[in-house]
Amino acid sequence: MVYRLVNDLEEKIGHYCGVVGLFSLEETNIPEKIFFPLFSLQHRGQESCGIAYRKGKGIVAYKDLGMVSTVLSKYLQEKKLSRIGIGHVRYSTQGGNRIENVQPLVVNCNKGVVALAHNGNILNSARLKDELFQEGSIFQTTSDTELILHLLSRNPEKNFLKALTTTLHRLEGAYSIVMIWNDSLIGIRDPMGFRPLYVGKKDSLHILASETCALDILQVDEYRSVRPGELILIQEGGMESIQFASPTQKRQCIFELIYFSRPDSFVFDTSVHQARKKMGAALARQDMDSPYFSADIVVPVPDSGTSAALGYAEEANIPFELGLARNHYTGRSFIMPTTNERELVVRMKLHPIREALEGKRVVLVDDSLVRGTTSSILVRMIRKAGAREVHLRLSSPELLWPCFFGIDIPTRKELISNHYTPEEIASIIGADSVRFLEISNLKSCVEEPSSYCYACFNGEYPYPIEKERLEDGLSICRS
Ligand code: SF4
Repeated sequence: MVYRLVNDLEEKIGHYCGVVGLFSLEETNIPEKIFFPLFSLQHRGQESCGIAYRKGKGIVAYKDLGMVSTVLSKYLQEKKLSRIGIGHVRYSTQGGNRIENVQPLVVNCNKGVVALAHNGNILNSARLKDELFQEGSIFQTTSDTELILHLLSRNPEKNFLKALTTTLHRLEGAYSIVMIWNDSLIGIRDPMGFRPLYVGKKDSLHILASETCALDILQVDEYRSVRPGELILIQEGGMESIQFASPTQKRQCIFELIYFSRPDSFVFDTSVHQARKKMGAALARQDMDSPYFSADIVVPVPDSGTSAALGYAEEANIPFELGLARNHYTGRSFIMPTTNERELVVRMKLHPIREALEGKRVVLVDDSLVRGTTSSILVRMIRKAGAREVHLRLSSPELLWPCFFGIDIPTRKELISNHYTPEEIASIIGADSVRFLEISNLKSCVEEPSSYCYACFNGEYPYPIEKERLEDGLSICRS
């Protein structure tokens, strides 16, 4: 039986996608140039990937299920000269990991040849899709991306940019988009700026990418964040910025900083590593309020807990220790297991280092707690390795609500914090204590805290959400 582990034992929450776009003034091996930044964004989606590039008067796409190195390296053995290309990595749950959903999507329509790749989730996609369906549209995918292309193609506006921007005005929700339109490269960020998108330039190359780690790999050091509601148009004559929607209240996803983005990236003009260190330090200050709390070592759950654990250790002046070794080669799918073999699966990924843990009072730092299954196995493993006490600290507040903006968070029923207090969770997972970063302290770790979305912690969504969707977490259609 093939048992698919959704994002590390179904315990971590998943992000949907990463995007890259390149425009070169001179012909170059564009697909190969896209490979490297796309590879840097692999953490944003491991289930499928693809590239599309301009060839002659058309667009060629190559995409498949699988990781960037597996899917694209065989395709890139021959040189493919072009000037414009886009790339996409994808993670999916609903809508399934089906080949027809793999991006970029390429169409030849009344607006020209278009390739589009999208990171996010369109909240009103079900309604828009239903309208189009009733009017006779045929959908070949279950993705929001195809919906955007349908809306664009059916837009009566003759001027392409007007058609595109009026199409964007019909969308509610999260979208960072890269697209090829004839001989232009376009980058778009939704008016609330849920997902990050950067634009950079090096010599004759313009690049768009979800995170700056993808720009760094091409040694692009001149870059900036695309603004919420901004459309970037890159053509032969240079780059143009169009503010297609007036800046509204920003709602940047705080989870990009807590967990999703790479620590060496900047997103939302913030260093991810530094933000996580601040979250760890804030967690430590919460503990230092208690005169009874003390520990010998601070241990991260690698890799996502590492920066926060460093911040905690520095602030509390407790030694940082590698108490868990991570095997980076497990991937996300295994042939097995039954429920009681879960521990073996966790051990395949994370293994305790007895010499570091024996006899110690351990602060174990992770980024978030979803169902609690992996944490209980980890705590047990750390105890078996000889730790005297295990105190689990989470560098995010309690997860209580689903996300409708491009992140895969389980239903309210499945989130452990909807059922138990931190004290009860400690007893369930076998820890001496469990503590979450308080939301006010999380806000103190970022510049402009009001520019972030915290809906999965406080249920304050930037759009109204129907009651039934709140309970089952359905976002209906995802990129
Ligand atoms: S609900 Fe949570 S995960 Fe979703 S965009 Fe808001 S902060 Fe991010």
